[in-house]
Amino acid sequence: MSFTSEQIDGLMSLIGITRESELNCNECLHHVAEFAECELTGKHIPEALEAVRHHLTLCLECKEEYDELMKVLRSMGPAA
Ligand SMILES: [Zn+2]
Repeated sequence: MSFTSEQIDGLMSLIGITRESELNCNECLHHVAEFAECELTGKHIPEALEAVRHHLTLCLECKEEYDELMKVLRSMGPAA
């Protein structure tokens, strides 16, 4: 079974996902290390990474990846 991109857009909007502003899991995981580093070091979160933060509030799988990553980064230091 295959959908046209119009059908996919329709389905996505039905379930409340807008492709422009939402990351998918791959994109999230691609940026999650950068995001974690900003969080750890207290750096300003760039606008591009706000989408990662948003995704982590929605997606348990990526949140778990993020939590694991934070654990590792914290154990490595030197960020106090
Ligand atoms: Zn995800």
